[in-house]
Amino acid sequence: MTAEGMSDCLFCRVVARKSPADIEYEDDAVLAFKDIYPKAPVHLLIVPKRHIASIMAMEPGDAEVIGRCLLAARKLGEAKGFAERGYRVSVNCGPEGGQHVYHVHFHFLAGRRSGA
Ligand code: 5GP
Ligand code: ZN
Repeated sequence: MTAEGMSDCLFCRVVARKSPADIEYEDDAVLAFKDIYPKAPVHLLIVPKRHIASIMAMEPGDAEVIGRCLLAARKLGEAKGFAERGYRVSVNCGPEGGQHVYHVHFHFLAGRRSGA
């Protein structure tokens, strides 16, 4: 995606601080912020700072940053006191997978028991 095109991406705008978000974690490659419509007492979105549209568009060179998102999930789980109780990390992929924002994001859901 071109630099111009990325201004059309909601989560690229959050990364660039052009859209507001409650940021909970940041490192050089990853950002995590509160979901605006939380579906659990703690509902964060963990995104690579670099635009990747979907897991369906993931390339081998994206593997490290995707892994870094999962490491951020572990850190958030520990920082927020869910290391013992656990939490859910999920990714929606494509139209039938329920993906609405086409910048890869991991949902981090905690504070309520998740079903299957
Ligand atoms: P998806 O449905 O693509 O897996 O998840 C997109 C998520 O982004 C949804 O849970 C939705 O509530 C969240 N969301 C949509 N718009 C915004 C926004 O402007 N800011 C934040 N923080 N979250 C958003
Ligand atoms: Zn993006």
